[in-house]
Amino acid sequence: MSIQTNDPNEGSDSLKSLSLIAAHSHITGLGLDENLQPQETSQGMVGQLQARRAAGVVLKMVQNGTIAGRTILVAGPPSTGKTALAMGISQSLGEDVPFTTIAGSEIFSLELSKTEALTQAFRKCIGIKIKEETELIEGEVVEIQIDRSITGGHKQGKLTIKTTDMETIYELGNKMIDGLTKEKVLAGDVISIDKASGKITKLGRSFARSRDYDAMGADTRFVQCPEGELQKRKTVVHTVSLHEIDVINSRTQGFLALFTGDTGEIRSEVRDQINTKVAEWKEEGKAEIVPGVLFIDEVHMLDIECFSFINRALEDEFAPIIIMATNRGISRTRGTNYKSPHGLPLDLLDRSIIIATSNYNEHEVKTILSIRSKEEEVELTNDALDLLTKIGMETSLRYSSNLISVSLHIALKRKSNIVDVADVKRAYLLFCDSSRSVKYIQENVSQYID
Ligand code: ATP
Repeated sequence: MSIQTNDPNEGSDSLKSLSLIAAHSHITGLGLDENLQPQETSQGMVGQLQARRAAGVVLKMVQNGTIAGRTILVAGPPSTGKTALAMGISQSLGEDVPFTTIAGSEIFSLELSKTEALTQAFRKCIGIKIKEETELIEGEVVEIQIDRSITGGHKQGKLTIKTTDMETIYELGNKMIDGLTKEKVLAGDVISIDKASGKITKLGRSFARSRDYDAMGADTRFVQCPEGELQKRKTVVHTVSLHEIDVINSRTQGFLALFTGDTGEIRSEVRDQINTKVAEWKEEGKAEIVPGVLFIDEVHMLDIECFSFINRALEDEFAPIIIMATNRGISRTRGTNYKSPHGLPLDLLDRSIIIATSNYNEHEVKTILSIRSKEEEVELTNDALDLLTKIGMETSLRYSSNLISVSLHIALKRKSNIVDVADVKRAYLLFCDSSRSVKYIQENVSQYID
């Protein structure tokens, strides 16, 4: 079976995660120093020092490959930076490491079974770095190509030697060249170029003694085809995910599904063949497997079948690093009648490294809101920032963070680019936070349908 690995464009699934990522666009890492100690504010990260310290240890374990078989659970109240922390880990791992985010509830759809959706999410996080080497070896034939142009009535040519990998181009300078189109030479060969006629003569490798040069006359320019460079093999590396290889090779779907995101179920035989092939490539040194990170937000939305799937999948050789987040305390595990910490079954909890996040103080909320407003390019007066901070402390960081762009729209309506207290107040009155919304419903309960 020949397996295709086209570099696909982003599918619509990535769009789903876009808003999630945009809310964290200010985060560029975990903000740790070289001893993995968190700085109060660094790389967009503010406070949450204990959790960031723990995340730093997790990061090291991931980098050292010692995390296999375990999951990371980030647990804490809403808006305490659980997703931000996962983003920070992902950013610190670097661009080459695939990072996929899903919300627990996304797993449930009519098109895909739960386990298929999870399998696809898992395989999106396994990067396959495929190395392709150009077969350029010592003595490889190179071509001399002449790029002709006419200037001032003279035939002027730019002489280049092109290797057969079409990449390594040796400029030999502008020459008056006539009549010559192509000549084959070998790496390490000495060639002579007659300045007047542009004629190239191949002199072979041994032609390197000065008396040989002297014998050719003053009108000849000698060039030795650079041997070292030509012997260099050029390695082209491209990274695709296992999921992308699956989709491209799935006869029912084809690679167009990557654009629509409508991948449907992928047959297990296709995946088995791909796993075997990738394992072969790995064995032959043609491919490297890069385990990425799967971030499952609202993990308590998964049910017992999904949890047992994850438990099993963690043992797989192609398992990504799983970071889960929840804001639930003791709650019912979906699909069962029993309650457990964070709604997770005990066997999965047992495999988890738990990082706890806690609520922010006023100074931290203010710093985060200030960073967010800069990120959204919204200028706030000091009083507006103070009011947003107060709202953030009394409602939630996310609600008050959302008011930033709403307030800007209100400010723009009164022809100001700077958000002031009155704009924030109007935004606050226009849009309810969750507790005001609940209160409103309670007061008007008779008008709602049960
Ligand atoms: P939920 O439980 O509601 O899903 P969460 O704990 O995942 O919430 P986030 O979404 O990470 O919270 O945080 C809300 C917003 O605040 C995001 O824009 C996030 O980037 C920002 N934020 C949270 N914590 C920090 C932090 N320590 N430093 C910088 N920004 C933060």
